[in-house]
Amino acid sequence: MGIYVTRSCPKCGYAFEKFERNYVAIGQPFRACPKCESIVIFDHVKEWGLLSFEGKLGYIFCHIFTNLFLSLFGLILVLIYYTFVLGVDISSGERTENFAFVAFLSYLLTFAAVSAKRTVSFVRQINTSRKRMEEQKYREELIKMGLIKEEM
Ligand SMILES: [Zn+2]
Repeated sequence: MGIYVTRSCPKCGYAFEKFERNYVAIGQPFRACPKCESIVIFDHVKEWGLLSFEGKLGYIFCHIFTNLFLSLFGLILVLIYYTFVLGVDISSGERTENFAFVAFLSYLLTFAAVSAKRTVSFVRQINTSRKRMEEQKYREELIKMGLIKEEM
């Protein structure tokens, strides 16, 4: 049994598909390999309480930015509806204004819906992380793996 810092088990090559993410995720930073039972540490998975202030801020900005980005879908839907379903030339005068208003409204509504849904799961992740960190046994495991230096 060894301790590794990677996304796939270096001992047997088992790939942790659930962790195939390029951004920092909140969660338990280690898992036991289901194939050979080695402890594998994921350097991109962190407990919320172990993130620095900048790390937390970065995570929140990333969350908001993703919400803003995903909301573009609402705007694109309106654009498709106007040009392909209604067959409206949105570049002509009054129609541009009308389209801009509907597109903006649609973007806001999508943003509200996307934010509500994603923020609920974001807060849930933080709470689950906090609960894990409250357990003495879990903290001792993290210390043993060098993920926490001292008892905080
Ligand atoms: Zn393994």
